[in-house]
Amino acid sequence: MPDELINVLHQDGEQNGGTTVQRFWTGDYYNEGNGRDDIFDKLKEECGVFGVYGHPDAAALSYYGLHALQHRGEESAGICTSDRGEFHYHRGMGLVKEVFDQGRIESLPGDRSIGHVRYSTAGESKLANAQPLVFKYRGGDLAVATNGNIVNAPNLRRELEAQGSIFQTSSDTEVIAHLIARSPKDLVEAVKDAFGRLIGGYAFLILTNDRLIVASDPHGLRPLVMGRLGEGYIFASESCALETIGATYLRDVQPGELLVLDKDGLREDRFAQLERRAVCAMEYIYFARPDSDINAINLHSARKRMGRQLAIEAFTDADVVTGVPDSSISAAIGYAEQTGIPYELGLIKNKYTGRTFIQPSQELREKGVKMKLSAVRKVVEGKRVVMIDDSIVRGTTSLRIVNLLREAGALEVHVRITSPPFSNPCFYGIDTPDRRDLIAHSKTVEEIRQAINADSLYFLSQPGLIEAIGGHDGETDRGLCLGCFSNDYPTQTEFEDAKIGCGCD
Ligand code: SF4
Repeated sequence: MPDELINVLHQDGEQNGGTTVQRFWTGDYYNEGNGRDDIFDKLKEECGVFGVYGHPDAAALSYYGLHALQHRGEESAGICTSDRGEFHYHRGMGLVKEVFDQGRIESLPGDRSIGHVRYSTAGESKLANAQPLVFKYRGGDLAVATNGNIVNAPNLRRELEAQGSIFQTSSDTEVIAHLIARSPKDLVEAVKDAFGRLIGGYAFLILTNDRLIVASDPHGLRPLVMGRLGEGYIFASESCALETIGATYLRDVQPGELLVLDKDGLREDRFAQLERRAVCAMEYIYFARPDSDINAINLHSARKRMGRQLAIEAFTDADVVTGVPDSSISAAIGYAEQTGIPYELGLIKNKYTGRTFIQPSQELREKGVKMKLSAVRKVVEGKRVVMIDDSIVRGTTSLRIVNLLREAGALEVHVRITSPPFSNPCFYGIDTPDRRDLIAHSKTVEEIRQAINADSLYFLSQPGLIEAIGGHDGETDRGLCLGCFSNDYPTQTEFEDAKIGCGCD
């Protein structure tokens, strides 16, 4: 049986002069490195998606929306629009502002679009996996943008290949495109059937010549919101993107929901019933922007409550409280409010380091730490410091930051973490190291304290975290996924080649 699907984006790189660039970037210091040799070992963010239906400035709105979601992925960006049944698209490596300029945006006409930013890796950059992926199939054109990961993608891929499908990328997104293309049913039913076969955490935007289809996985693991701007509908991974373009927030897309937008307007449908809501707790702790709301919970407020809860669970007398920028500043403010210990900017992130394309020596890499994050000597010298951070992955980041504070004269450094120990991998789109490389997997809290050179260390309890976030009463863990802390995942994860991390590659 011949393959019915043609991935057309490889042509895009040639037609539009796009190139695949080998880069050694040090980029954002949190996302730097390849997981083996990085300065800061923070968890890698996922991707961001943005969709428009029924607004004449679809491409420009996507540009600004993706810009607001840039923290979710810095490696590549892309936008595909549909104009009177014809697709126009561009994608490239780099930040949104690097991939698109005025001319590019003007070359993308139409009143509907989907866009994507992809998370950052170092070393080899893959244009082939940049999204949206665009396909031709017997029903016309199909563009797909996704955030998350499909755990059983390798199994589905093997099955499809055995039936004759030819894959051109390693992205999960292509799996769903093949499933849709092979179905004899009409498009919406084919999409529902295809999603019914996926196991994982994902938010999908699918653009056809005349429709936009929006879906969230049956557990709502990855955030996705819906808003309105004029007569148009807007979809985004985070509500901050709605704010940026002046759209009004309508609601979060619900787990298992399938929304279809076409000339008849918006149709609300489902492809799965809600079994167990499980929104990613790390979105609240770290990933999402503090000005975003997920399920009506503001992230800044939730992080402040985490800081307060930490103070209740693990108070220590100190002279100043500081937060590791940017994600832990809200929690540090909460800790300070609860204890009365003054909050100070003891650590400063240099926002202007940008990307560098130099592969640094180890000595320079150590200097690079100070180029990107500095301790404020006047604030911490001679002081007992409480340092709030969101997570400890391998432990190297915490060690470096504790040492920065000590070198700047801190007498004591007490580390408080706004999450329970991160001891298990994520299967739903967060790029996590191998389980054996997670320091909390093999070490006790006391051993971690010693490894990061802290005077004391405390991780927020799981009940404390759940309470601080809030959420849905009466649901398992109040509707949160806590799998990386508890090893209790909301879906089956045991497959022959179960995928962990992000589905983008
Ligand atoms: S396993 Fe952890 S990082 Fe992954 S979705 Fe669940 S809470 Fe988020």
